[in-house]
Amino acid sequence: MDKNDALYLRFPAGLRFFLAPQHRGDAPMPAAPDGTSTLGHLVEAAGVPLTEVGGLRMDGEPVPFSHIPEGGGTVEVEPVGRPQALPPGPAAFLLDVHFGSLARRLRLLGVDTAYHNDMDDPALVVQANAERRVLLTQDRGLLRRKNLWCGAYVRGTRAEAQLDDVLRRFAPGLAPWTRCTACNGLLQPVTKDEVAAEIEDGTRRTQDVFARCRDCGQVYWRGAHHARLEAVVAEALRTVSAARAQGAPWRGGR
Ligand SMILES: [Zn+2]
Repeated sequence: MDKNDALYLRFPAGLRFFLAPQHRGDAPMPAAPDGTSTLGHLVEAAGVPLTEVGGLRMDGEPVPFSHIPEGGGTVEVEPVGRPQALPPGPAAFLLDVHFGSLARRLRLLGVDTAYHNDMDDPALVVQANAERRVLLTQDRGLLRRKNLWCGAYVRGTRAEAQLDDVLRRFAPGLAPWTRCTACNGLLQPVTKDEVAAEIEDGTRRTQDVFARCRDCGQVYWRGAHHARLEAVVAEALRTVSAARAQGAPWRGGR
């Protein structure tokens, strides 16, 4: 293959942070086709997980990840659509270790969120696949695992930004105040009498509405942090509503 057959990959601005610094400009980056590597492999080799790619176009025509380029040209890499369509049913997620704060926020919003702070990569993939949970991570190697059914790279270093990214990307259905933030179990209402032995006098005097986690037994009420959590919930509802209004997958009032 001579230099007239050069192959280039053009990444949208939103994916360039995955690339080596010298390739983050507007110019397409050269790829090195070897006659056996697929376009998907070349994109991954550039540093971009395929979970973040919605499609590829070669000189304007859609081509699959499995396409093996034989000549030159420019491949346009398109970002995954937002909101990203998921299989029917409530969205469910599995969070990589170190996402404890994000996990508590998603559970506060009623999003089915599995999280353990001590799981290795193979175990994460097994659980994500078995329970059809979208694996959320900042580990590109994990997203490249061949047998992972669905994963996503989470943008942001702080939990607020990470939550915003997940909500914009998937626009999941929210059911605030229905899940245990500690274990992801569903909450059920309980009377004050039922929890009297488990709460302090001050709480008993000032609170009337209680719920208990069906899985771990944790009792919940509107505590000192309630105003702050209400603000998180209100912001999340606005974010998902706006994301759904923008995106085609949700057309039809879902
Ligand atoms: Zn619980």
